[in-house]
Amino acid sequence: MRKPDFHLSWSLALNVFLVCLLGAGLNSIPAPFDSAGIAVFGCGAAVYAALRFPPLLSIPMALVISAPIWFSDGSIVGKESLTLLPIVLSFFGYQKSLRQIIKIGGGFWSIVFVPILFLEHALYDTENLNLLLSGVLVTWISGVLGLVSGHFAYLTTHGLRRKLSYEPEKVKLNFLLSYFFAGCFFVASTAVIYLSVSLFQQQQERQIKGYMAQRVAVLQQQLSDFISQHQRVISSTAQTLSGDKRAEQLDARATKQLSIAASLYPNFITFLVTDDSGNITHTYPPNLIENVRAGVLPNVAYRPYFFKAMQSGKPYLSNVFQGRGFGNDQIVAMSAPIKSEDGKPIGIIEGSLSLKSFSIFDELSLNGFSLLIEDQKGEVVYASETLNLRPLSKAPTYPCEPECGNEIQDGPEGKTWLRYKGDIAQANWTVNYYFKHEYLLSSMSSYLLKDLLLLLLLSLLGTITGFLVARMISMPLRRLIRYIANFDPSTNRESKIPHQALHIQELTSVNAEFVKLEQRLLKAFDDLDKTRAKEQQLNVELGELNQSLEARIEEKTHHLESALKSAEAANTAKTQFLANMSHEIRTPMNGIIGSCELMFEHNLPEHIASRAKTISRSATNLLLILDSILDWSKIESGKMGIDNRDTQIHELLHSARELYLYSADIKDIAVDVNIDSSVPSALITDAGKVSQVVNNLLSNAIKFTDEGTITIGAEYRDNHLIIAISDTGIGISEDKLNTIFEKFEQADASTTRYYGGTGLGLAISKGLVELMGGEIQVKSALSEGSTFTFFIPCKEGESSAVKTMSEVATLPENIHVLLAEDNDINAEIVMDMLKGANVRCIRTRNGLDALEAAKKYAFDVIIMDCQMPVMDGVTATSLIRKQGKNKDEVRIIALTANAFEEDRQACLNAGMDAYLSKPIRKRMLFNTVANQLAKS
Ligand code: ADP
Repeated sequence: MRKPDFHLSWSLALNVFLVCLLGAGLNSIPAPFDSAGIAVFGCGAAVYAALRFPPLLSIPMALVISAPIWFSDGSIVGKESLTLLPIVLSFFGYQKSLRQIIKIGGGFWSIVFVPILFLEHALYDTENLNLLLSGVLVTWISGVLGLVSGHFAYLTTHGLRRKLSYEPEKVKLNFLLSYFFAGCFFVASTAVIYLSVSLFQQQQERQIKGYMAQRVAVLQQQLSDFISQHQRVISSTAQTLSGDKRAEQLDARATKQLSIAASLYPNFITFLVTDDSGNITHTYPPNLIENVRAGVLPNVAYRPYFFKAMQSGKPYLSNVFQGRGFGNDQIVAMSAPIKSEDGKPIGIIEGSLSLKSFSIFDELSLNGFSLLIEDQKGEVVYASETLNLRPLSKAPTYPCEPECGNEIQDGPEGKTWLRYKGDIAQANWTVNYYFKHEYLLSSMSSYLLKDLLLLLLLSLLGTITGFLVARMISMPLRRLIRYIANFDPSTNRESKIPHQALHIQELTSVNAEFVKLEQRLLKAFDDLDKTRAKEQQLNVELGELNQSLEARIEEKTHHLESALKSAEAANTAKTQFLANMSHEIRTPMNGIIGSCELMFEHNLPEHIASRAKTISRSATNLLLILDSILDWSKIESGKMGIDNRDTQIHELLHSARELYLYSADIKDIAVDVNIDSSVPSALITDAGKVSQVVNNLLSNAIKFTDEGTITIGAEYRDNHLIIAISDTGIGISEDKLNTIFEKFEQADASTTRYYGGTGLGLAISKGLVELMGGEIQVKSALSEGSTFTFFIPCKEGESSAVKTMSEVATLPENIHVLLAEDNDINAEIVMDMLKGANVRCIRTRNGLDALEAAKKYAFDVIIMDCQMPVMDGVTATSLIRKQGKNKDEVRIIALTANAFEEDRQACLNAGMDAYLSKPIRKRMLFNTVANQLAKS
């Protein structure tokens, strides 16, 4: 699981601040009711922080949020637990799944913390089980409330976004709804129950306070009455005893009066009568007088009840004090002066009221309420046992006095008490009515416990309801899913539609839609089946048709193949025929032209020379025609190759002009060469083919021009050589412009008659230009002349790479030449040419003889005819290269009438160095021999 990146940004800081503020604020709200547990509401914020932020951030947040809890009352363990809960969750629940968070949070809280909490409460709240249980429950609920609210807040704000960065969590609907229902029930029930408990507690408190106030008022009255009644007894007895002069009369009356008063007011434990000096004269019970006589307490003149009454002449109520002499009871003394007839005090009567007599007021108090009566000195007159204050001890005083109100925080036993007080005007005393706050708490705790148990029950109900609702939704959903999953239109067409229990309208709609879809699908499948059946039928038909078609195609292919074979055979035969014819014609032509050339070297009589020239020109023309036919045959059969080399293009064009200058001169036509400066001196192209095209066009131009000028123009643009031959001749009509490039086509049928020609020249030119990757065009109009333009792609070459040898090279005289030639005429011509240059030459008639000779002698050059009897030239050459005496150095030059490219290639492959085609010309022969010697 990848951890998200946390960047400290302002929005994050604001988030953290708000969460802390909210959590701490909620935790600061005072508990809505008093309990032994901790009721807080802000733990949710800490839980949210633990799930949302990494531990480094969420732990300090948890501490800040929990801080207010530590300022409230309550158990230490509870405070620790509530603080630790989000911290534990932060360590073990951050970035965990929904279920894990619930397990970790709920588990830790209920299984680990609660027992510890329980133990702590068991130590302090032992006397009241309800208080103990309700205290533990209240703290537990605070934690659960925090877990639920924090987790819900996280789920609704960030939990859903988790799918962006993590694997989305898969949760069952049952679980989710149970959780949410239980959570919502829990939170809602908590709110309601807390409110009701709070209200109930407030009401209870109000009632108790009301009761106490009322009770204090009643006590004030009762105590006043009680004191004044008893004072009245003393006063009336004193009055009864006043005015007597004779002591014996007083004796008798006093004794009687005291016993009457004692019988009527038994709260007085003793009475005594004194004379004006404070000496005790009478007592009740009477036997106490013995103590007086024994000198235990003969005089009470120092007692305030004596001298205050004597001085003021009025009844007196003393403070509480420890009685002495007549017993050791704690008492309050009431006295009144006994006056003489003239109204002077002659003694007092005193009654000791036992402090225990105030217990009758306490007995009327309800359980839990305590009574405290203080005298004017602040000493305890009477205190209920629960207050644990002894009479005569100092009554408690509080620092908050006199504005303490009715709630005393640090009251008796160090506990909190409700206290109401009132003054008893009669005695200048104070009556306090106490109620221990704990009693309120314990009286509330059983109610609280019941409510809390109800809360748990409601949450359980929520869980069950959630589960049932989820089941209600998920059952039909699952049934529908199962139905959809089982649906297979190809096999399961009979599956039952799940009608039952689909009470949820949306689901019913989904179901209905699916059923419709299903029906559409079934129909579609039916249609598909039909279409398939049709398709199958169509396929069968198609298959049959295919088979018959295949058979027919096979048959046709067979026919075509055999036709192609026959065509190929015919083509081969034609090529073979042409090769043979070429060879056969060239050999005699070689004789004719060679002989003429040799003849011209001698001084011939003029008429013989003229005849020889005619023979030579006619033979040359014939050779040209032969070459044209051969060229065309080569182009058509695709055997014409390209031989690109560095070519001196200027020289090539000028040579062409030279070649036709004689024919032009005869017709008095000027031939101009106009080469643009853009044309480089050398271009890489097939010189032979370019000059053949130029020659063809030039020859046509001269042929079809009677007067004017012929211009050979050349340009070089965009890596293209553009050559244009313009004339001022007869021109070509527009309708013929397209056909003249066809073979054997002439613009006019009369052309042949008048100008001659084969109709092959332009077709060959076009073929050659296209072979070089170029194009040829014509612009012409009748009687206005024609311009033939062709352009071929070619790169610039090196001008120094080509050396043309327009002159006949001179051969060194000491070289040894072997000529292998079966034709005597041809042999004679070659030998004559070499003899003229004083070169010695040996001749053999076949390849085998040539091989034998080469084995014996080291020749410099072997001129090898190809077609010879016994052993042909190609075989002889390959053997000479293996066995010849001078096998590596000797230069072998082919001399053949075989004018095809493959012939040339066969010669070179056999080890020949150069290739000369018949008819043999002296210049060609000598230049080639010189060239080869120069290379060796
Ligand atoms: P031919 O051997 O007849 O010259 P070509 O293929 O060279 O065959 O020419 C075909 C025809 O094109 C010629 O017969 C002629 O009618 C026409 N032609 C070719 N060049 C020219 C030209 N320069 N002026 C007029 N007509 C021409």
